Amino acid sequence: MENFIETIIIIYNVKGGNIMYDSIVIGSGFAGSVIARELAERGKEKVLVIEKRNHIAGNCYDEKEEHDIVIHKYGPHIFHTNSDRVYEYLSRFTEWYEYNHEVVANVNGQYIPVPFNLNTLHMVYGEEMANQLERKLIDTFGMGSRVPILKLKEQEDEDLKAVAEYVYEHIFLRYTMKQWGQTPEEIDPEVTGRVPVLISRDNRYFQDIYQGMPIAGYTKLIEEMLCYPGISLLLGTEAKDILYLDNKMVFYQGKPFLGKVIFTGAIDELFGCCYGRLPYRSLRFVKEYYPIDSYQEKAVVNYTMTEDFTRITEFKKLTGQEKGKGTVIMKEYPIAYTNSKLETPYYPILNEEDFSLYEKYKKRAKEYRNFYLLGRLAEYKYYNIDTIVERALTLADELIEK
Ligand code: UDP
Repeated sequence: MENFIETIIIIYNVKGGNIMYDSIVIGSGFAGSVIARELAERGKEKVLVIEKRNHIAGNCYDEKEEHDIVIHKYGPHIFHTNSDRVYEYLSRFTEWYEYNHEVVANVNGQYIPVPFNLNTLHMVYGEEMANQLERKLIDTFGMGSRVPILKLKEQEDEDLKAVAEYVYEHIFLRYTMKQWGQTPEEIDPEVTGRVPVLISRDNRYFQDIYQGMPIAGYTKLIEEMLCYPGISLLLGTEAKDILYLDNKMVFYQGKPFLGKVIFTGAIDELFGCCYGRLPYRSLRFVKEYYPIDSYQEKAVVNYTMTEDFTRITEFKKLTGQEKGKGTVIMKEYPIAYTNSKLETPYYPILNEEDFSLYEKYKKRAKEYRNFYLLGRLAEYKYYNIDTIVERALTLADELIEK
């Protein structure tokens, strides 16, 4: 990894600040890396990527820990998409480990498939009752449908209400309280809608056409993307140390910069939090090693009734790593984001008040010519990897056409 970074800086940035860049990209996660690659390759531009961490790949960063097992440092990331364009684009930079993600919930010691589906229904209710409920669910919603828990809860039928109550109590309520510090009703319905009740026998967490893990990891995938003539990368560099905004103008190394700036960081921090902080949820990760082959039955087990952590990920089951080295697990403890240097903003909190605060920052950013916001932090949206890649490709289409 270090070698790559050195090479890329040495080869493409020999003249340091003297290179005339066409574009500056802030952040080297999926958003920043895709747009940088597109501008350099399709747009034939010289692009500078500035990254404050000492590694690329943003929160998808993966690395080998001390037992030689690959872990996702900032929590599990599983790729899935229905977009041909996104899948084909990423496939230029990686091959895939064919992995269909399955999750179970530990409900007071019993392990049941999540999202709650017809198989879960049969595990929870006796055969006769389950058959009757299954009929009703299929007749009401149709086989293959995806029903958000809050919608299921609105049903008038007593049986459907009872199923909704079970799912709400055993899958959503406590997990959501841990994750967000709020009830499912208090948060944006789209959030719980990410994990709908499935009227099917599909135990997979995602039903997308394409799903899998980059065979050599996310960091390698991003490295392949950034390693391209025309791209310079500065690691361990705060954008604000070499770039500043003043009087509707971007300055790079003290001089007006007339090229494009694509910003993928936290937008409130860009403007010194002048309108107040945008709130986020953060996570504390606890990593444990066990000298055994397998810790749990699936890569991810959600703790929906007990414990202070939300879930445990066993990495080798995600990535298909070889047996015999032991196993590493990670527990996720949700916490409030207080902007301590030790915390990372992971999840934007989606409510109306925060949206209007975000809009103020967005309006401010619009005052700057050629200044674009991209990605989960800059757009303050709960994006998955594929949506970010799609957004970056679309922005590239627009910018290259201009
Ligand atoms: N959720 C839940 N119980 C579960 C899984 C999810 O209550 O077992 C809710 C919870 O509010 C969570 C949201 O659904 O924040 C979205 O879950 P997802 O797995 O998509 O979250 P992510 O993987 O992005 O953390």
